[in-house]
Amino acid sequence: MTMLSVDQKHFSQAVPAHAASTILAIAELSVSYGSVEAVRHLNMDVKAGETVVLLGANGAGKSSTLNAIVGLAPRTGGTIIFGGQDISRKSTEAIVRRGISLVPEGRRLFANMTVRENLRLGAAALGAAEFERERVHLEEMFPIIRSRAHEQAGLLSGGEQQQVAIARALLARPQLLLLDEPSLGLAPIMVNRIFDIIEELKQRQATILLVEQNADRALRVADRAYVLANGRLELSGSAADIRTSTLEDAYLGERRA
Ligand code: ATP
Repeated sequence: MTMLSVDQKHFSQAVPAHAASTILAIAELSVSYGSVEAVRHLNMDVKAGETVVLLGANGAGKSSTLNAIVGLAPRTGGTIIFGGQDISRKSTEAIVRRGISLVPEGRRLFANMTVRENLRLGAAALGAAEFERERVHLEEMFPIIRSRAHEQAGLLSGGEQQQVAIARALLARPQLLLLDEPSLGLAPIMVNRIFDIIEELKQRQATILLVEQNADRALRVADRAYVLANGRLELSGSAADIRTSTLEDAYLGERRA
Protein backbone atom coordinates (compact mmCIF):
# COMPACT_ATOMS: atom_id res chain seq x y z
CA MET A 1 0.00 0.00 0.00
CA THR A 2 1.21 3.48 -0.78
CA MET A 3 1.87 5.77 2.15
CA LEU A 4 0.00 9.05 2.18
CA SER A 5 2.30 12.01 1.96
CA VAL A 6 2.11 15.51 0.60
CA ASP A 7 5.03 14.56 -1.61
CA GLN A 8 3.42 14.23 -5.04
CA LYS A 9 5.68 11.28 -5.84
CA HIS A 10 4.04 9.27 -3.07
CA PHE A 11 0.53 10.26 -4.04
CA SER A 12 0.97 9.55 -7.72
CA GLN A 13 1.76 5.91 -6.93
CA ALA A 14 -1.70 5.44 -5.43
CA VAL A 15 -4.30 3.38 -7.27
CA PRO A 16 -7.22 5.32 -8.83
CA ALA A 17 -10.40 5.07 -6.71
CA HIS A 18 -12.38 3.17 -9.35
CA ALA A 19 -9.84 0.36 -9.47
CA ALA A 20 -8.80 0.53 -5.85
CA SER A 21 -8.76 -2.12 -3.21
CA THR A 22 -10.61 -1.88 0.09
CA ILE A 23 -8.32 -0.35 2.69
CA LEU A 24 -10.83 -0.26 5.58
CA ALA A 25 -13.66 -2.74 6.05
CA ILE A 26 -16.00 -2.38 9.02
CA ALA A 27 -18.40 -5.28 9.65
CA GLU A 28 -21.22 -5.28 12.19
CA LEU A 29 -19.47 -2.71 14.36
CA SER A 30 -21.20 -1.91 17.64
CA VAL A 31 -20.02 0.66 20.20
CA SER A 32 -21.62 1.07 23.62
CA TYR A 33 -20.95 3.32 26.58
CA GLY A 34 -22.57 1.29 29.36
CA SER A 35 -26.23 1.09 28.40
CA VAL A 36 -25.89 3.76 25.67
CA GLU A 37 -25.62 2.05 22.29
CA ALA A 38 -23.85 4.64 20.15
CA VAL A 39 -23.22 2.49 17.04
CA ARG A 40 -25.24 -0.59 16.09
CA HIS A 41 -24.19 -3.25 13.58
CA LEU A 42 -22.53 -0.80 11.22
CA ASN A 43 -21.14 -2.04 7.91
CA MET A 44 -19.02 0.28 5.79
CA ASP A 45 -15.83 0.36 3.78
CA VAL A 46 -13.29 2.77 2.35
CA LYS A 47 -11.22 2.05 -0.74
CA ALA A 48 -7.70 3.31 -1.38
CA GLY A 49 -7.78 6.82 -2.82
CA GLU A 50 -11.41 7.48 -1.86
CA THR A 51 -12.87 10.32 0.16
CA VAL A 52 -15.80 8.96 2.14
CA VAL A 53 -18.04 11.09 4.35
CA LEU A 54 -19.99 9.93 7.38
CA LEU A 55 -23.05 12.12 7.98
CA GLY A 56 -25.78 12.22 10.62
CA ALA A 57 -27.40 14.38 13.26
CA ASN A 58 -25.75 15.17 16.61
CA GLY A 59 -25.39 11.99 18.62
CA ALA A 60 -25.85 9.72 15.57
CA GLY A 61 -22.62 7.86 16.36
CA LYS A 62 -20.19 9.43 13.88
CA SER A 63 -17.38 10.29 16.33
CA SER A 64 -17.85 6.95 18.09
CA THR A 65 -17.25 5.21 14.76
CA LEU A 66 -14.03 7.14 14.05
CA ASN A 67 -12.83 6.66 17.62
CA ALA A 68 -13.59 2.92 17.50
CA ILE A 69 -11.44 2.57 14.36
CA VAL A 70 -8.41 3.79 16.32
CA GLY A 71 -9.34 1.90 19.49
CA LEU A 72 -10.47 4.97 21.43
CA ALA A 73 -14.15 4.03 21.81
CA PRO A 74 -15.48 0.83 23.42
CA ARG A 75 -16.20 -1.63 20.60
CA THR A 76 -18.75 -4.16 21.83
CA GLY A 77 -19.09 -6.15 18.62
CA GLY A 78 -17.99 -6.51 15.03
CA THR A 79 -14.66 -6.32 13.26
CA ILE A 80 -12.46 -3.62 11.76
CA ILE A 81 -10.10 -4.75 9.00
CA PHE A 82 -7.41 -2.34 7.86
CA GLY A 83 -5.06 -3.21 5.02
CA GLY A 84 -6.18 -6.82 5.26
CA GLN A 85 -5.38 -7.08 9.00
CA ASP A 86 -7.90 -7.32 11.83
CA ILE A 87 -7.18 -4.28 14.04
CA SER A 88 -10.29 -4.64 16.23
CA ARG A 89 -8.33 -5.64 19.30
CA LYS A 90 -5.15 -3.67 18.70
CA SER A 91 -3.99 -0.80 20.88
CA THR A 92 -4.34 2.75 19.58
CA GLU A 93 -0.57 3.01 19.35
CA ALA A 94 -0.37 -0.13 17.21
CA ILE A 95 -3.21 1.07 14.96
CA VAL A 96 -1.57 4.46 14.43
CA ARG A 97 1.72 2.72 13.66
CA ARG A 98 -0.05 0.66 11.01
CA GLY A 99 -1.01 3.85 9.18
CA ILE A 100 -4.21 5.48 10.47
CA SER A 101 -4.14 9.09 11.70
CA LEU A 102 -7.09 10.74 13.44
CA VAL A 103 -7.62 14.49 13.62
CA PRO A 104 -10.02 14.55 16.58
CA GLU A 105 -12.99 16.87 17.00
CA GLY A 106 -11.78 20.05 18.68
CA ARG A 107 -8.23 19.59 17.29
CA ARG A 108 -6.56 18.90 20.67
CA LEU A 109 -3.28 20.73 20.13
CA PHE A 110 -1.04 21.42 23.10
CA ALA A 111 -1.98 25.06 23.58
CA ASN A 112 1.14 26.06 25.51
CA MET A 113 3.54 24.50 23.05
CA THR A 114 4.62 26.08 19.80
CA VAL A 115 3.28 25.04 16.42
CA ARG A 116 6.63 23.36 15.63
CA GLU A 117 6.62 21.46 18.94
CA ASN A 118 3.09 20.23 18.27
CA LEU A 119 4.20 18.95 14.88
CA ARG A 120 7.24 17.24 16.34
CA LEU A 121 5.03 15.39 18.85
CA GLY A 122 2.78 14.23 16.03
CA ALA A 123 5.75 12.65 14.30
CA ALA A 124 7.43 10.97 17.24
CA ALA A 125 8.19 7.90 15.15
CA LEU A 126 10.20 9.90 12.58
CA GLY A 127 13.90 10.57 12.93
CA ALA A 128 15.07 14.20 12.89
CA ALA A 129 16.07 14.21 9.21
CA GLU A 130 12.85 12.53 8.08
CA PHE A 131 10.79 14.94 10.18
CA GLU A 132 12.52 17.91 8.53
CA ARG A 133 11.92 16.49 5.07
CA GLU A 134 8.22 15.86 5.70
CA ARG A 135 7.78 19.23 7.39
CA VAL A 136 9.24 21.06 4.40
CA HIS A 137 6.89 19.17 2.04
CA LEU A 138 3.95 20.09 4.25
CA GLU A 139 4.84 23.79 4.31
CA GLU A 140 3.81 24.01 0.68
CA MET A 141 0.23 23.03 1.50
CA PHE A 142 0.20 24.58 4.99
CA PRO A 143 2.22 27.86 4.87
CA ILE A 144 1.04 28.52 8.42
CA ILE A 145 3.34 25.84 9.86
CA ARG A 146 6.28 27.94 8.70
CA SER A 147 4.94 31.47 9.28
CA ARG A 148 3.67 30.68 12.80
CA ALA A 149 6.17 27.94 13.66
CA HIS A 150 7.40 29.49 16.91
CA GLU A 151 4.09 30.83 18.23
CA GLN A 152 2.10 29.11 20.93
CA ALA A 153 -0.54 26.95 19.25
CA GLY A 154 -3.21 28.23 21.63
CA LEU A 155 -2.81 31.76 20.25
CA LEU A 156 -3.82 30.72 16.73
CA SER A 157 -7.40 31.04 15.49
CA GLY A 158 -9.57 27.92 15.34
CA GLY A 159 -9.06 27.55 11.60
CA GLU A 160 -5.30 27.97 11.92
CA GLN A 161 -5.21 25.36 14.68
CA GLN A 162 -7.22 22.99 12.52
CA GLN A 163 -4.62 23.34 9.76
CA VAL A 164 -1.82 22.56 12.24
CA ALA A 165 -3.79 19.53 13.49
CA ILE A 166 -4.22 18.21 9.93
CA ALA A 167 -0.54 18.84 9.15
CA ARG A 168 0.39 17.01 12.35
CA ALA A 169 -1.70 14.00 11.32
CA LEU A 170 -0.14 13.99 7.83
CA LEU A 171 3.40 14.02 9.21
CA ALA A 172 2.95 10.41 10.21
CA ARG A 173 2.35 9.70 6.48
CA PRO A 174 -0.85 7.75 7.16
CA GLN A 175 -2.47 5.45 4.63
CA LEU A 176 -5.87 6.51 6.00
CA LEU A 177 -6.71 9.94 7.38
CA LEU A 178 -9.71 10.29 9.71
CA LEU A 179 -11.06 13.85 10.06
CA ASP A 180 -13.68 14.51 12.77
CA GLU A 181 -15.73 17.66 12.07
CA PRO A 182 -12.78 19.70 10.74
CA SER A 183 -14.94 22.73 9.87
CA LEU A 184 -16.90 22.84 13.15
CA GLY A 185 -17.08 26.30 14.69
CA LEU A 186 -14.78 27.95 12.12
CA ALA A 187 -15.25 31.31 10.40
CA PRO A 188 -16.61 30.93 6.82
CA ILE A 189 -13.28 31.83 5.22
CA MET A 190 -11.58 29.11 7.25
CA VAL A 191 -14.30 26.61 6.38
CA ASN A 192 -13.42 27.29 2.73
CA ARG A 193 -9.73 26.82 3.47
CA ILE A 194 -10.32 23.48 5.20
CA PHE A 195 -12.43 22.18 2.31
CA ASP A 196 -9.76 23.40 -0.14
CA ILE A 197 -7.20 21.36 1.82
CA ILE A 198 -9.44 18.27 1.71
CA GLU A 199 -9.88 18.80 -2.04
CA GLU A 200 -6.12 19.08 -2.49
CA LEU A 201 -5.47 15.93 -0.45
CA LYS A 202 -8.07 14.14 -2.53
CA GLN A 203 -6.37 15.28 -5.76
CA ARG A 204 -3.18 13.78 -4.37
CA GLN A 205 -4.92 10.42 -3.95
CA ALA A 206 -5.10 10.51 -0.16
CA THR A 207 -7.60 8.13 1.44
CA ILE A 208 -9.92 10.06 3.74
CA LEU A 209 -12.81 9.22 6.05
CA LEU A 210 -14.49 12.48 6.97
CA VAL A 211 -17.14 13.24 9.59
CA GLU A 212 -18.94 16.51 8.93
CA GLN A 213 -22.02 18.45 9.96
CA ASN A 214 -21.63 20.61 6.85
CA ALA A 215 -23.34 17.97 4.70
CA ASP A 216 -23.59 20.00 1.51
CA ARG A 217 -19.89 20.91 1.42
CA ALA A 218 -18.85 17.42 2.46
CA LEU A 219 -20.99 15.78 -0.23
CA ARG A 220 -19.42 18.03 -2.85
CA VAL A 221 -15.88 16.90 -1.96
CA ALA A 222 -16.60 13.22 -1.17
CA ASP A 223 -16.84 10.24 -3.52
CA ARG A 224 -19.24 8.27 -1.33
CA ALA A 225 -21.31 8.85 1.79
CA TYR A 226 -22.83 6.94 4.68
CA VAL A 227 -25.64 8.46 6.73
CA LEU A 228 -26.13 7.36 10.33
CA ALA A 229 -29.25 7.79 12.46
CA ASN A 230 -29.31 6.66 16.07
CA GLY A 231 -26.20 4.57 15.56
CA ARG A 232 -27.60 2.69 12.57
CA LEU A 233 -26.81 3.00 8.89
CA GLU A 234 -29.72 4.83 7.29
CA LEU A 235 -28.42 5.44 3.79
CA SER A 236 -25.29 4.92 1.72
CA GLY A 237 -24.29 5.59 -1.85
CA SER A 238 -22.41 7.92 -4.12
CA ALA A 239 -22.03 11.42 -2.70
CA ALA A 240 -23.66 12.86 -5.84
CA ASP A 241 -26.77 10.67 -5.44
CA ILE A 242 -27.10 11.41 -1.74
CA ARG A 243 -26.65 15.14 -2.36
CA THR A 244 -29.38 15.07 -5.00
CA SER A 245 -31.80 13.14 -2.79
CA THR A 246 -31.03 15.39 0.21
CA LEU A 247 -31.67 18.50 -1.89
CA GLU A 248 -34.90 16.98 -3.21
CA ASP A 249 -36.02 16.11 0.33
CA ALA A 250 -35.32 19.67 1.49
CA TYR A 251 -37.17 21.06 -1.53
CA LEU A 252 -40.16 18.75 -1.08
CA GLY A 253 -40.13 19.47 2.66
CA GLU A 254 -40.36 23.20 1.93
CA ARG A 255 -43.15 22.64 -0.61
CA ARG A 256 -45.10 20.53 1.86
CA ALA A 257 -44.65 23.02 4.70
P1 ATP B 1 -21.77 14.83 17.56
O1 ATP B 1 -21.84 15.46 16.24
O2 ATP B 1 -22.69 15.46 18.58
O3 ATP B 1 -20.38 14.58 18.08
P2 ATP B 1 -21.88 12.04 16.80
O4 ATP B 1 -22.71 11.58 15.66
O5 ATP B 1 -20.41 12.15 16.58
O6 ATP B 1 -22.45 13.40 17.34
P3 ATP B 1 -21.23 10.44 19.08
O7 ATP B 1 -20.40 11.52 19.68
O8 ATP B 1 -20.56 9.25 18.52
O9 ATP B 1 -22.19 11.05 17.97
O10 ATP B 1 -22.29 9.99 20.17
C1 ATP B 1 -23.21 8.90 19.98
C2 ATP B 1 -23.93 8.62 21.29
O11 ATP B 1 -23.00 8.15 22.25
C3 ATP B 1 -24.60 9.85 21.90
O12 ATP B 1 -25.80 9.42 22.52
C4 ATP B 1 -23.59 10.31 22.94
O13 ATP B 1 -24.23 10.97 24.00
C5 ATP B 1 -23.00 8.99 23.40
N1 ATP B 1 -21.63 9.12 23.84
C6 ATP B 1 -20.56 9.56 23.10
N2 ATP B 1 -19.42 9.53 23.81
C7 ATP B 1 -19.75 9.06 25.04
C8 ATP B 1 -19.02 8.78 26.26
N3 ATP B 1 -17.70 8.97 26.31
N4 ATP B 1 -19.69 8.32 27.30
C9 ATP B 1 -21.03 8.10 27.26
N5 ATP B 1 -21.79 8.33 26.15
C10 ATP B 1 -21.16 8.80 25.07
